[in-house]
Amino acid sequence: MTTRNPSLGTALITGASSGIGAVYADRLAQRGYDLILVARDQARLEALAERLRAEAGVQVEVLPAALTVKADVARIEQRLRSDASITLLLNNAGVASKGSLVESDIDSVDEMVQLNVVTLTRLAAAALAGFVPRGKGILVNIGSVVALVPETFNASYSATKAYVLSLSQSLHAEASPSGVQVQAVLPGATRTEIWDRAGFGLANLPSEILMDTADMVDAALVGMDRRELITIPSLPDAADWEAFTAARMKMGPNLSRNQPATRYTA
Ligand code: NAP
Repeated sequence: MTTRNPSLGTALITGASSGIGAVYADRLAQRGYDLILVARDQARLEALAERLRAEAGVQVEVLPAALTVKADVARIEQRLRSDASITLLLNNAGVASKGSLVESDIDSVDEMVQLNVVTLTRLAAAALAGFVPRGKGILVNIGSVVALVPETFNASYSATKAYVLSLSQSLHAEASPSGVQVQAVLPGATRTEIWDRAGFGLANLPSEILMDTADMVDAALVGMDRRELITIPSLPDAADWEAFTAARMKMGPNLSRNQPATRYTA
């Protein structure tokens, strides 16, 4: 059976070898997208590609890349800049860290910032370089709810995800007038390998805060279809996010003035 729909074009997914990225690959293939799958683990990518070709009849290309290695990142950027069939970038590859900044191995923190921040930004720029002049395309950045409650998680990971939120909000302002769609997805705890990889132990998380990956991705896709800028799959009442945004924007006119506020003047 084929669900292939050439008018949708190709989705490039980073971090497609497991977790959230692998489920997105499945769902986008079912919708009819051709896929380019990026991660380090070539064997896992090939196995996923083979399954999706067979199940959905879409074209799937595997591009193994270590997204903290400059030459590999440059290769993916080049592909995004030169391949006009790419209509969707899912900026998903990411790692987490455990422990306070002073307890952490600073080289691991550096690598996390490279992947979660620097590579994500470079790939967004490369994709938008094609999307904006064409007046269409979808950029999805995977952030995290810890961007909103950084006090509850470790500093460096939370800060990388605050960056993703901020970048997405600004990119939406920059790119949406051209017709390009930008979405930041802010998952809460989701049942993937990231927890064990970072040394937390998935089994230690309370089940009431842990969402199944398929549920998270399906909710995020509903948000994408509604052209939401920010999608928070867990949040029951969207009015909470809207109130937060309204409070932030209310401060706007007072955040840059020619005099200090009176409480700072003796
Ligand atoms: P995951 O199962 O560990 O997946 C991470 C993906 O990123 C894998 O495909 C991994 O593939 C890839 N990756 C990691 N380091 C890489 C590197 N240096 N170069 C290229 N690819 C790399 O975890 P996940 O939860 O699905 O994570 C996906 C995104 O969701 C991340 O950005 C994460 O921060 C975010 N997120 C997750 C949660 C959660 O609770 N799970 C919550 C909020 C946000 P290879 O190892 O094959 O390279």
